[in-house]
Amino acid sequence: MRKNFLRAILIFLVSFFLEACSYFDDESSEITLYPDGQFAYGLFPNDAALNDSAAAQLTHGIILMVSPGGNYELSFDADTSFDAPELQLFRIYSKNNTSYGKIVRRISPKTQEGRLVYQFTCEESKPYYWATSLRGEGKSFYKGNVKNLRFEGEGIYPESFSIRVIQTGLYTGTTDSLSFEKLSAKIFEKFKSYYKGIKIDTFYTVTAENLAGKNIYPSEKAQTLPYHSDGEKSMFFPELTSAENKDESSALDLILAHRIDALGILGYSPLFGISMSDSGAAVVLATHVASASGILQLHSDEIIYTAIHESGHFFGLRHTTATTSDLLSGSDLSNLEDGFEDTPFCEKTILGKALGKGSDAWLPVFRLFASASVSCPDETNIMYPLSSEHEQSFSSEQLKTIRKNLTLIKH
Ligand SMILES: [Zn+2]
Repeated sequence: MRKNFLRAILIFLVSFFLEACSYFDDESSEITLYPDGQFAYGLFPNDAALNDSAAAQLTHGIILMVSPGGNYELSFDADTSFDAPELQLFRIYSKNNTSYGKIVRRISPKTQEGRLVYQFTCEESKPYYWATSLRGEGKSFYKGNVKNLRFEGEGIYPESFSIRVIQTGLYTGTTDSLSFEKLSAKIFEKFKSYYKGIKIDTFYTVTAENLAGKNIYPSEKAQTLPYHSDGEKSMFFPELTSAENKDESSALDLILAHRIDALGILGYSPLFGISMSDSGAAVVLATHVASASGILQLHSDEIIYTAIHESGHFFGLRHTTATTSDLLSGSDLSNLEDGFEDTPFCEKTILGKALGKGSDAWLPVFRLFASASVSCPDETNIMYPLSSEHEQSFSSEQLKTIRKNLTLIKH
C-alpha cells in the first residue's frame, strides 16, 4: 500500500497579463516589440525537458526566471528560411495591480552549429521574472520556427547549502519511534550521503511556535497543513520562511507537520525554488499521510526520502516520469519526462493514458500502481514520483544540474 503515495511538485506558472496601453516607453529610438501573450509558459534554468510549448511561445512572450549575477544562454535551432531575430527581454513589475514590462535587453544571436545562441547576464539585485519577445523584420514578431529551446545558466551563489527543519505543531512520531531530534539528525546524515559532491554546511532545527508565535502554531496541537493556496495564504508559509525569521544562514527550510490535507500526498515543493533567502519558498513534509483507509503514520525512511525528493524539485529537478498532475499544472504535454539521458522513463504511463478521459485524467501513475502491480525502470531514482521500496538515488546528470542550479538559487 505504501508504494502508492505521491510526492508532489508545484510547477511554476505565471499568468501576468501586460496591458498594452500601460507599457513603459523607453527613450531610445530603437524598436521595442512588447510581448503580446498571456505568459502561460515559463522556463527555469538548466531544465532538460522538451518544453515545446515554451518554444512555440518564445516569440510572443514567455517568462524566464533570472537571478542576480546569473550568466545565461538561451538557444534554439536556427530556421534558415528567416533572418535571425533579435531577442528582447523585459522586466515585469506590477504597480496598482497592473503588470508592466520594461525593456532591459536587446540581444543579437551568435550562430553555433546551426543554433542561434543569445547570451546575457542578469544584473538584478533580487530574483526576477523577465519576459521575452523575438523581433523579426522591422516592428514585426519573428515568423520563423523555434525548435529545441534550451535555457542554461550559472550564477554566483555557492554549490553548498544548509538545512533548517521547522517542526510545526505537535510532533507525532514515526513508526520506528524516532524522536524529533533523532529524525532531524537522520535527515541531515541522509542528505549528506545523497547529495554526493555537494557540501551541506549547517543543520538547524527550530519550532514554528518560536518563529510565528504560539497562537498560530501551538506546540501542543498536531498541525494539518492545507494543500492549496487560499487568497493571500501561500502554501509555502511566508510567516515561517520570511527573511526576518532567518538567522545567519539562508538555509533550505523543511517544514515538518503532522500531515498534509490531501489524500496520498507525502510532501510537496515548488519546482525550482528560486531563493532560499526570501520568504515563501520551502519544502513541506509530514510524519503522517491520509490514505483511503485512514491516517497512517510513516517510517522515518519514508519521511527522509520524501525530504530528499522534494529538495530535488526545489533545486530544479522534475519527476523522472511526469504525472498527469505535472502535465496539467505545467500545461506543456511535451514534458513527459525530465530529459536526462541517464534517468529512465516509465513508458507504461504513455501520453494516451496520461491525457486520459474523465476520472482517469488525474494522476495516471498513481492510478496505475493502485490498480495493478506494475514496475517502472525509474523506481530506483529518487525523483520517481511515487514512494518506492527500492533503494533510490540521484543520477550524475541530476547531481550536475543541482550543482549548477545552486549557483543561481539565492542563499
Ligand atoms: Zn515529486
